[in-house]
Amino acid sequence: MLYQYQCACCNKVVTANDKECQHCGSHHIRSPYGFWIFCVFACLMVAITFKVGQIYLNNHQTDTPEQITLLNVLNQDSNKTDH
Ligand SMILES: [Zn+2]
Repeated sequence: MLYQYQCACCNKVVTANDKECQHCGSHHIRSPYGFWIFCVFACLMVAITFKVGQIYLNNHQTDTPEQITLLNVLNQDSNKTDH
């Protein structure tokens, strides 16, 4: 389970007070909080990226010459082939 302390060697569940694994004697006890901290940071990163993207789009929404020029180029090409 993700909310339990686990041995990093044998993956057996250990109690939070255990300094070493009861099964294999390993001192590598994995804390369950690392996963949640990672989740929180991942969510924050996604939120920040989304917000920055939104601001970027809002700033560039009024002037988007790329699509227009691309359409113009395509139209010019088709006109050339017609003639
Ligand atoms: Zn172990």
